[in-house]
Amino acid sequence: MRAVTPSADGCEECLKTGDAWVHLRLCETCGHVGCCDSSPNRHATKHFQQTRHPIIKSFEPGEEWGYCYADDLFVETL
Ligand SMILES: [Zn+2]
Ligand SMILES: [Zn+2]
Repeated sequence: MRAVTPSADGCEECLKTGDAWVHLRLCETCGHVGCCDSSPNRHATKHFQQTRHPIIKSFEPGEEWGYCYADDLFVETL
């Protein structure tokens, strides 16, 4: 697992449209930053559906957990 560079400080799509988000998720494949499933637009999940990049990591300060969509698996520390 190599480190990726986050593409933005917030959800890329929400920043463009001016929408709000609850939490942020970082795509471990390409560095896309998207909002979580508690957010109105759920861009992290949409990013997986569009790209099939399976692994995300929490982009919240102090949170290290990750999640794999393909395996529906939570990882405490990624
Ligand atoms: Zn979003
Ligand atoms: Zn990605």
